[in-house]
Amino acid sequence: MTNDATQSPEAVALADRLGELVARMRSAEAELGAVLVEIEQRGVMELFGYRSAARLLEHLADMPKPATERLIKRARLLNPGRNLDGSPIPALAPATGVAARAGRLSNPMIDVITSVLSQVPPEHCVSAETNLLAFAEEAGHKQVATLGARILAPDGPAPDDTEPVVPTRELFLRRKRTGIWELSGRFDDETGTRAHALLDALAERRTGDEGPDFRTAPQRYGDAFSDAVDLALNSPELPMQAGERAHVMVAVSLEDLKSGVGKATLGDTGTMSAAEARVHACDAMIIPAVLGDKSEPLNLGRLRRLISAGLRRALFLRDRGCAFPGCHRPPRHCQGHHVRHWADGGPTDLTNLVLMCAHHHRLLHRSGWEVRIAADGLPEFLPPVFIDRRRKPRRNNLHEPLPFAA
Ligand SMILES: [Zn+2]
Ligand SMILES: [Zn+2]
Repeated sequence: MTNDATQSPEAVALADRLGELVARMRSAEAELGAVLVEIEQRGVMELFGYRSAARLLEHLADMPKPATERLIKRARLLNPGRNLDGSPIPALAPATGVAARAGRLSNPMIDVITSVLSQVPPEHCVSAETNLLAFAEEAGHKQVATLGARILAPDGPAPDDTEPVVPTRELFLRRKRTGIWELSGRFDDETGTRAHALLDALAERRTGDEGPDFRTAPQRYGDAFSDAVDLALNSPELPMQAGERAHVMVAVSLEDLKSGVGKATLGDTGTMSAAEARVHACDAMIIPAVLGDKSEPLNLGRLRRLISAGLRRALFLRDRGCAFPGCHRPPRHCQGHHVRHWADGGPTDLTNLVLMCAHHHRLLHRSGWEVRIAADGLPEFLPPVFIDRRRKPRRNNLHEPLPFAA
């Protein structure tokens, strides 16, 4: 595995400086908002002759009006207000206000939290705010929005039970000489709609601590199609072929599998890199035929890398979905990652396995992220140094039951 734990001291110092300035900018904006709310309460017209605090700021700071209005709207949710008779109104999100003034929250994060809090029943407001803020300490606003959606609808959307209509369907899938495959076809409205819904769900922008998702829409849908194929290949309902679950044969030498350098043969015609074969061989979706020095198949039984149904269930129960911090993919989208690869002698048991979605599984194999099983038996991830210089371990708390979900 590549590991960029050694970043230059220069980059680390610049990243520190950026972090410091971002915190100061956020903190200043939160205080600016608090002062504007106070001006509003004392009377903008009386004090300055302006119709609104937004107008005042627009002139004073040469800021566009939509920006000043957003700033004040946000500040009203974070700071206590006053009724016309002067009686106080508590802030919707007081703890968020404190964290904002300390420079710990981005504007999108504040907007996500206040939007959730304005929709939860008042009796859940305090605990919801505590949970969202705790999560915000280590996650991005998109992940916090995911948690927020679960707080608002713990049971998820209602199931879709529409029936397919009489079908007319054609599909063409061809491999070109370059090794690129082309897919085209014609489908009835029902199938098209369902395929669209399936791919839409899988093509969502990724959440997770690895940073923003810069893929184009066609790239996201291409990845979604690949995920859908993996999901279908993993389904217990898949028809048997010659007494076995359908699978793709990969042939790779043990040496290449260990080093991750070299090429592997995929199916009858294709090739893939040995590094990619190493990711696939980590779980059991693509079954590698591991070849010895003279290209003879090695005794696969001895390696015992396949994850048994019982072990997979135990892994599902322990990790409840992709264990990568901030990922919400459920267990059926996941593979078992060997913390220490079986090709390097790692055992196939709970102390050496972590449940991960295909994307985060690949990310882990290719990037500076590392995973380990902590003393309490649960997986934790060490971010690469460019994300967190101290490499403080992170966990995924999205799969845990919510404190007030009945
Ligand atoms: Zn793996
Ligand atoms: Zn994931």
